[in-house]
Amino acid sequence: MLVVTKFGGSSLSCATQFEKVKNIVTSDPKRKIVVVSALGKRDSSDTKITDLLYILHAHLKYSVPYEDIWNMLYTRFVGVQKDLGINYDITKDLDALYKELNKNISQDYLVSRGEYLTAKLMSSYLGYTFVDAKDLLVFNYDAKMDEGTTEKNVKNAFAKYGTIVVPGFYGAFPNGSIKLLSRGGSDVTGSILSKCLNVSLYENWTDVSGILAADPRIIDKPRAIKEITYAELRELSYMGASVLHEETVFPVQQLNIPINLKNTNEPSHPGTLIKNVCTDESNIVTGLAGKKDFLSFNISKDHMSNEIGFLRRALSIFEKYNVSIEHIPSGIDSFSVVVAGSSVEKCQYELVTELRKELEANVTVEKDIALVAVVGRNMAKRSGICGTIFQTLGQEKINVKLLAQGPEELNIIIGVASKDYETTLKALYQNLVA
Ligand code: ADP
Ligand code: ASP
Ligand code: MG
Repeated sequence: MLVVTKFGGSSLSCATQFEKVKNIVTSDPKRKIVVVSALGKRDSSDTKITDLLYILHAHLKYSVPYEDIWNMLYTRFVGVQKDLGINYDITKDLDALYKELNKNISQDYLVSRGEYLTAKLMSSYLGYTFVDAKDLLVFNYDAKMDEGTTEKNVKNAFAKYGTIVVPGFYGAFPNGSIKLLSRGGSDVTGSILSKCLNVSLYENWTDVSGILAADPRIIDKPRAIKEITYAELRELSYMGASVLHEETVFPVQQLNIPINLKNTNEPSHPGTLIKNVCTDESNIVTGLAGKKDFLSFNISKDHMSNEIGFLRRALSIFEKYNVSIEHIPSGIDSFSVVVAGSSVEKCQYELVTELRKELEANVTVEKDIALVAVVGRNMAKRSGICGTIFQTLGQEKINVKLLAQGPEELNIIIGVASKDYETTLKALYQNLVA
């Protein structure tokens, strides 16, 4: 039986956190594969190493003096090494990196050094072999993962070394150049390694005792979720529950490997178990999540309903601009296309012009929309949930801009004005979850 244990930046902010990690890893001999993020924040006013590296890259690119930022990075890494009292001489690696700093250094390479150096510290501290993620996770030039080669690499490395520490968040193209995953991607690295080695459990250690039924930064002490299905987690994380990267479930789900989300600062707490099927029916709503900054393209035209292919033509224009669509609420002669604001940052005006011209329709854009997801496997075939949602938001005088439900009845998505986002979450939490 094997376990992959992934520790997030919050579990790796200083030497004391490293000690907690070592206690956790050594307390169970099944924990032979350790994945680490880069050193995280020591307190709320601190800066993550990954963020410092992004800032450093921007300074280099625009030829702005970068010594102060470099010194902050240097001091943090050397500080942890000294406090741990380990042999690994991190100053050598840092000095070598310093020599590589120039205007053209690749952002992916520079930023990946956060997890690279953190993994080297951890490998020395645990006595596990450091295995570079660039030799494991291989991406084709279209940025899709080469799953076959990756699996072979991971299996070989594990067979060779037995106990390993792997930096999360990056891999490499076949020519060896580094490719970062998206932010929070060490969760995905852990999931990929779990799949490649077909482990019995993927443990994801962070700074909360499980997935909470709502964002703890908005709801005071939300309920912890004991068990959740992969599908529910996917809905929650896609819709903004940032505790796990939204792509985490896919690799492990294929082999039905459970994920246990646990707290490095409270290891005895069982945390949340994420698996294929959950039988607990005590809660109808499992959790809430949400995101701001959506935009709605409202498209209307008389007799639109008689124009066969109208929707397809509209959507093909969004496709042309490479814009991913979130929702399409519709009326008879009108519909809206809801998209993430970031996806149309550069093309919004061209898109509107082309929609107007090609469709000969009225097109208006509504900004500042927030989406809130009510998620629960036990909602299917139950009546009254939408009623409670409308009643709750009506009492708060919040206007519902859109309401959508997936065919599995696993989620209900509510669109409101961004300014009403927090109030919506609080009111729904009170009436549906608490
Ligand atoms: P790590 O550094 O371990 O990767 P993250 O910061 O990525 O940790 O994720 C943990 C944080 O996610 C928590 O500290 C919490 O503030 C935030 N979070 C947002 N939504 C939720 C949720 N539904 N449940 C738990 N934590 C959440
Ligand atoms: N360190 C990276 C980030 O801050 C990756 C991770 O934490 O998973 O996004
Ligand atoms: Mg994270």
